[in-house]
Amino acid sequence: MFDLNKPYCFYFNEISRIPHGSFNEEAISEYLVDFAKKKGLRYVKDEHNNVVIYKDGSKGYENSEPLILQGHMDMVCEANKDTVFDFKKDPLVLRTDGDWLMATGTTLGADDGVALAYILAILDDDNIPHPPLECCFTVQEEVGLLGARKLDKDLFKAKRMICLDHEDETDTCTSTSGGRNVQSFFKGNIINNSKESYRLFVSGLKGGHSGTLINDNRGNANKLAARMLKEFLNNGAAINIIAIDGGSKENAIPRECEIFFASDDIDKIAEVFEKTSAGIRNEYAVSEKELSITLEKTSVSEKRFDEKTSADIIRFLFLAPNGFKEKSPLIEGLTVTSLNLGVIKTDDDTICVTHSVRSVFDSSRDELSDEIKTLAEMCGGTSRFSADYPGWNFSERSDLRDKLRSALMKVSGKELRTSAVHGGNECGVFSSFGVEDIISYGPSMEDIHTPKERLDLRSFDRVYEILLEVLKNCR
Ligand SMILES: [Zn+2]
Repeated sequence: MFDLNKPYCFYFNEISRIPHGSFNEEAISEYLVDFAKKKGLRYVKDEHNNVVIYKDGSKGYENSEPLILQGHMDMVCEANKDTVFDFKKDPLVLRTDGDWLMATGTTLGADDGVALAYILAILDDDNIPHPPLECCFTVQEEVGLLGARKLDKDLFKAKRMICLDHEDETDTCTSTSGGRNVQSFFKGNIINNSKESYRLFVSGLKGGHSGTLINDNRGNANKLAARMLKEFLNNGAAINIIAIDGGSKENAIPRECEIFFASDDIDKIAEVFEKTSAGIRNEYAVSEKELSITLEKTSVSEKRFDEKTSADIIRFLFLAPNGFKEKSPLIEGLTVTSLNLGVIKTDDDTICVTHSVRSVFDSSRDELSDEIKTLAEMCGGTSRFSADYPGWNFSERSDLRDKLRSALMKVSGKELRTSAVHGGNECGVFSSFGVEDIISYGPSMEDIHTPKERLDLRSFDRVYEILLEVLKNCR
């Protein structure tokens, strides 16, 4: 089944012998360059190790519109706890089990090694009919599309592209969101403290990916904790923040938030605590059954933020936008715009709040970022934007999608489904370069990014055939 006489199997096997985790792409990138040299193909390797290889259209296709074939070189490196494996130098240990290809004890890197294998097989074979090809291999996709974002867009003339970074043979992805991180900083006055000190702890929430699950009514621990403190303020309690620690990653809905604060008004606080926490638990009785909100006395902290800084940060967290914002008018269940108040950290005299903002529209992303920044400034803070990546908006018409639909039907006898994700991938970057018609497609695989990752070998065969059929129809 995994027959090395098939060119894409041969190349997949080759790739698996070259370590290629994110940030460790030098060797695989050299391998691609060597391939291009041997085949006498024009290529560019940029300073980040991204590689583009060009091949003229085959006979009869010399003047056809060019096409980009694209995939990422890097793989996610995950090993089982009991597996001794050095991703920096060990080759993957491939094995098959029936129709599945796996790596022993580690991720397989079918995401996105299949793209490299297919593209090299196509470039290697001079008998395949295809339009002029611009084959792009990027680095560091898995750690934030870093390679793609640094590409020189002038390397591409094509206005159409097949992205081979998808894991379902009967499905094609049609839209992704863009995004940005917004960090807001509140530098405050630290004073000596002698007031009683308390710990408010919100926990037991489900959390999850802040893209795909943002429309799932999940509680945000940071927002709930801030809401509790705002109620304390509303009832006349004086509050001094000592430290806040909420969430762990900007792209995960925070499950826990811990706020240490000082106050002499525990009578007012205790009463409000009961009422407000009961109200919140009631709101989340169905969607967040494990939600817990606790308040306990701790040893007296020596330092605290002054009252003004404390009130400013509480107001900011209370008002800061968060969660689902806009759904797609075209695709059922798809979120178009959202944001996640993911992380709050305290570092000496500064509290830092990180939002992850997502939208298919760069303009909506900009608007939401500005909302956060304006609010932060009104509350005495500053904001900084980072990690921008562009979105890829759904287009109702796609010539490539039509070609894929008929090729899938012809080869597999199956109907093509479409999906869209509220998360980023490299298609957004190419869309921002002016590539107009993009499809994202690939063979079926399961449990990617885990040591259980496996590739469906029958699908690996069929998708190659489907790809060739699409290329043939790209005259
Ligand atoms: Zn991938």
